[in-house]
Amino acid sequence: MQDEIGGDFNFEDFQYFLSHMEREAKPIPQILYSVYSGAPFSNCVSCERHLQESPILYQVQKVFRKKRVIFEYSLCFECQQGLAKEYSQESTEKLQNFFLENYVMTEDMHECHLCQSQEVEKEHTLLALCLGEKLLFSSTICGLCTEKMQGLLSEQTRKTMGDFIQENFPGVPEELAPAPVFKI
Ligand SMILES: [Zn+2]
Ligand SMILES: [Zn+2]
Repeated sequence: MQDEIGGDFNFEDFQYFLSHMEREAKPIPQILYSVYSGAPFSNCVSCERHLQESPILYQVQKVFRKKRVIFEYSLCFECQQGLAKEYSQESTEKLQNFFLENYVMTEDMHECHLCQSQEVEKEHTLLALCLGEKLLFSSTICGLCTEKMQGLLSEQTRKTMGDFIQENFPGVPEELAPAPVFKI
């Protein structure tokens, strides 16, 4: 699958794209399982609701450094929206534009879906959207693109993100800045 969805793509298209993906959904691949449990993520990191019992849309994020997972979480749709709401308007727009302008859909998880770099070994993030036990969408983002996305955020938004991390993952080193969440 090599469809390009960059360029004129907007968020209504993205919602359409998601409903399309829902029809084509696949089981969640093992690479997106929780390293901690060895199984698909079962609970939202923030509100702890069960993600499969009454299937809800949720995001999975895993940060890899040289193949080792150094950070992972799953966040339900409601908590994700709650967090994204606290982002400044400016940050939200910049992020969406950056993603939509650069995103190229491919099933190759070994290259960055934003800059097509194959050098994702050192550090990369897997971002996925799942519904119950199904995978709707996943993307690989290299360390450099994650940094670029961080750089688009206003100070206020960066603080919101930092507080979220500290609240939910006490002890996570401060230099670890995962990819921001998206408002859908
Ligand atoms: Zn939640
Ligand atoms: Zn990249």
